[in-house]
Amino acid sequence: MSETTTFVASPEAKGKAKQLRIFAVIAWLLAMGGQVFAILKLISDETLVWLIVAIVVILALAITGSTLWKKANKLDPASEKEPTRFFIQNQLGAIMGVLAFLPLVIMIFTNKNISGKTKGIAGTIAAIAMVAAGITGADFDPPSVEKYTEEINKQNEAARSLSIDSDNVYWSKAGNKYHAYNDCQYIKGKALSNGSIKQSWEDKGISELCKVCAKKAAKKAVPTDVKELIETEN
Ligand SMILES: [Zn+2]
Repeated sequence: MSETTTFVASPEAKGKAKQLRIFAVIAWLLAMGGQVFAILKLISDETLVWLIVAIVVILALAITGSTLWKKANKLDPASEKEPTRFFIQNQLGAIMGVLAFLPLVIMIFTNKNISGKTKGIAGTIAAIAMVAAGITGADFDPPSVEKYTEEINKQNEAARSLSIDSDNVYWSKAGNKYHAYNDCQYIKGKALSNGSIKQSWEDKGISELCKVCAKKAAKKAVPTDVKELIETEN
């Protein structure tokens, strides 16, 4: 059994993460483009409605970007040993979210050609959107190589306590669980990968023991436990 373990994302997980990051960057670039357009064309009393529409669209793009970005980080997390990279990688969604609105907010509030009412309405909506994009983009519980390593070790131990072979579990592409039995109802008929708990994490980012399999394993483990108990009591 693999006693020492350090999480290393599988090439497949890294590839998927890279793809997600590219889509995230595209969404952010579109958000930035929308912002530039809004600044150049939509800050006026006549186009207030369109400015609000643009803010909603930019917000949707910013949130889409950071959602994809966070998904990628779960598959291919940064290491806490590199604090700067760790911070930027995990909080890039928040940074991009704020950048997607800050110039626009400034331009609205400093614009001399729009009425106070327009300024108030558009400025407030843009500021709220900026805060929303920043908060949804931030990762308050960022994944890390170290956290995953710790988690894998914990799961290995838990599996062993249930007499599950931690080097021989099953998982399907979808979902975030691994299974002790390949005939589990949740993975029946699906294409399965077979390997260690560590490998399931490296493939999927997050992987936890299926509850049904845990129950089944606990039931199977009972007789030996009882036997041990009886043996020790005697
Ligand atoms: Zn299962």
